[in-house]
Amino acid sequence: MDNREDSGAAAEVDAEKSSGSSNPDSDDEAGASGQSEMDFLRNLFSRTLGLGSEKPEKVLDELTLEGVSRFMQSEKCKKVVCMVGAGISTAAGIPDFRSPGTGLYANLQQYNLPYPEAIFEISYFKQHPEPFFALARELYPGQFKPTVCHYFIRLLKEKGLLLRCYTQNIDTLERVAGLDQEDLVEAHGTFFTSHCISSSCRKEYKLDWMKERIFSSLIPKCEKCQSVVKPDIVFFGENLPSRFFSLMQADFRNVDLLIILGTSLQVQPFASLVSRVPTNTPRLLINKEKTGESDPFMSLMGFGCGMDFDSEKAYRDVAWLGDCDEGCLALAELLGWKKELEKLVREEHAAIDAKSSQAVGDRAGASGAPSKVAKQPASPKKQCPPGSEEE
Ligand SMILES: [Zn+2]
Repeated sequence: MDNREDSGAAAEVDAEKSSGSSNPDSDDEAGASGQSEMDFLRNLFSRTLGLGSEKPEKVLDELTLEGVSRFMQSEKCKKVVCMVGAGISTAAGIPDFRSPGTGLYANLQQYNLPYPEAIFEISYFKQHPEPFFALARELYPGQFKPTVCHYFIRLLKEKGLLLRCYTQNIDTLERVAGLDQEDLVEAHGTFFTSHCISSSCRKEYKLDWMKERIFSSLIPKCEKCQSVVKPDIVFFGENLPSRFFSLMQADFRNVDLLIILGTSLQVQPFASLVSRVPTNTPRLLINKEKTGESDPFMSLMGFGCGMDFDSEKAYRDVAWLGDCDEGCLALAELLGWKKELEKLVREEHAAIDAKSSQAVGDRAGASGAPSKVAKQPASPKKQCPPGSEEE
């Protein structure tokens, strides 16, 4: 996937060279992207080597959450891009599907994998899909209830500020919280849809269809061609969705504020997005720990322009350390949105509870108590309320 991004960037730089900036009839899009790549490279070199003759404009009046909130309420802030990761879903009881340390990899012995990561490798999956689906059944969340953080992003949308939300999560909670397909780039794919893996078929299936098969312990097979059907999450060995590459160029060139939520920025090429914003665009990190800071090695590898929260040269990056939900509430309070956010969360959660207890009632014929299974990973989930994740 890195290769693909690199070759794309190189092609655009070439296009810029050959089209020539003096030719007004040249392909605008290629020219503009080429321009942005040149800006990117210029910024990268000047910042990495300390050559910056042009001082970037300081946009925030102070490098604090208060400074960010004042900027957000100004005329200058019209387009916000959010980058989010697993940290915004942990409060919803969603296990971090792939990262080590969750106990996930430790429980894989029973599947006789050649090595733990094989379970998420596309070549292994095509031969042996069983372990992946067994794991999916084990980890399937009992309930899909977005967090305060998800609804904060929804508020950004309602206020007309959200340009796009780039998510690494595959749990569909952004959609459940009311973001549309158009608002989202699901960089690592999603469980929301699935496709037949046969390249000549590629028939699409919905979440309900997939869920039914996962819980009946059946390997999902295409109704048309009998090939295996795979959720649209990105496996190791697969490219990121083309939407990621096609939207990234324009989105990150046009952004007034970048908000990074609940991600340690460890996975490329997602992590390198932070260095794609213009040099004067403020970047707010809300996370348990500081991350994304410049590292000389990463700069040499071309992932420069890291975050700078504390050095004497710091001029635009703000870190708010702690729980993502609390960080969003704190920012909402400064913006005067706190009551609105709390009301939104209350109403949406009540609607989800009502829907799931109705579903449980429909099945069991009684007992409409709201389910709490979401908080308990890997517990009996076969009776989990269906349909709660629908839009
Ligand atoms: Zn098929």
